[in-house]
Amino acid sequence: MDKKSHYRVIILGSGAAGLTAAIYAARANLKPLVIEGSQPGGQLTITGSQPGGQLTITTDVENYPGFPKGIMGPDLMEEFKKQAVRFGTETLFGEVTSVNLKQRPFQVTVGKETYTCDTLIIASGATAKLLGIESEMKLMGHGVSACATCDGFFFKDRELVVVGGGDTAMEEATFLTKFATKVTIVHRRDKLRASKIMQDRAEKNPKISFVWDTVVEEVYGDPKAGGVTGVRFKNVKTGKTEDFKCDGLFIAIGHEPNSKLFVGQLELNPSGYILTHDGTKTNISGVFACGDVQDHVYRQAVTAAGTGCMAAIDAERFLEEAGPKVIKLQRLVKIEHGERSENRQGNDFLSDLQLSDAQLRIADPVGRHLQQVLEQRNPPARDRGHVPLPIAHVS
Ligand SMILES: Cc1cc2nc3c(=O)[nH]c(=O)nc-3n(C[C@H](O)[C@H](O)[C@H](O)COP(=O)(O)OP(=O)(O)OC[C@H]3O[C@@H](n4cnc5c(N)ncnc54)[C@H](O)[C@@H]3O)c2cc1C
Repeated sequence: MDKKSHYRVIILGSGAAGLTAAIYAARANLKPLVIEGSQPGGQLTITGSQPGGQLTITTDVENYPGFPKGIMGPDLMEEFKKQAVRFGTETLFGEVTSVNLKQRPFQVTVGKETYTCDTLIIASGATAKLLGIESEMKLMGHGVSACATCDGFFFKDRELVVVGGGDTAMEEATFLTKFATKVTIVHRRDKLRASKIMQDRAEKNPKISFVWDTVVEEVYGDPKAGGVTGVRFKNVKTGKTEDFKCDGLFIAIGHEPNSKLFVGQLELNPSGYILTHDGTKTNISGVFACGDVQDHVYRQAVTAAGTGCMAAIDAERFLEEAGPKVIKLQRLVKIEHGERSENRQGNDFLSDLQLSDAQLRIADPVGRHLQQVLEQRNPPARDRGHVPLPIAHVS
């Protein structure tokens, strides 16, 4: 049997957004394919292509509803996946290397294979920018974090270091003072990039102090014995190093949305986040985006899951609306190919359809084909002495 290569819905990404979209799409009987990413679980990668998404690099998740005792990030994502598979989701390990959204069905390439789909749900997430040192990955979830909203609560009455000089760092540091006794912001330059208002807020906070012209070179601690115990600072101007005691390190140097695949095809904001409107719709009808790849504000598992649900419902409605009309067009092509059909019948058929712009676009390949077939059977007006079918408006 041929391997299946066409799907009504393909979901790109297996984080909270993608797998929630899969649960909803599968329960709507759309038999979705989830392309999960390529790296073995548990490692944050440069490309962000990591099955299970960002939560697989963290430990305790205490703010996901339904788990009063908390749950480990990788376990939570495993549960999401089981639930999606239970209703008929197909999953595929692999990294999407290109997409073609300029033709229908859409094309999604994974390695040497190309899959096609009527609707694409993009849930490719974002990658938290990190320092790139080995010890930070070793202690991730054990005192090192890239998310104050997620992990601040674990640091009651502790001393923390926050790395960064932009709005994110000021916001995270200010938020962390709700729990910590002391927060030290470390910045590699001698002035901040943050907006004036965020700077003022941080500077006025008595729990916050600053270390300038400095980077974190090393994180000290043992993941099995209490986590982070300190960091090593290096002054970038003098080269001098210094050990600094702290209980946690928050890296707040920004996120990068995993949207490079869509540059030139989808509308992105200046930071690369996919722009959505009316729920999860993108500028191409039939393509939807959910989760962190389109959300630079909330960036939480529960909000990603929420928009994943929305994307699946949006895709289902799109297919419901566009589907029957396209099928009608396909039938008409068959009629024209087979038994003799009256021109009038074709005319009535099309005017009866009243396709919207979005439906015309999805109907486009069928419409073009139909037009060719009909033109062969009904030569243009000048040759036949009558007005041709008004089918050109389909293309
Ligand atoms: C350290 C850390 C701790 C966190 N803790 C919490 C917490 O406690 N609570 C909370 O609510 N939130 C937490 N978050 C935030 C939360 O993880 C994210 O908001 C959430 O994971 C976003 O889900 P997503 O599905 O949009 O994207 P992601 O989780 O980023 O998933 C993206 C998916 O897309 C796939 N992908 C990307 N590119 C490709 C490609 N080219 N081909 C194939 N697949 C691709 C990846 O493999 C991955 O499966 C934390 C984040 C971090 C970094």
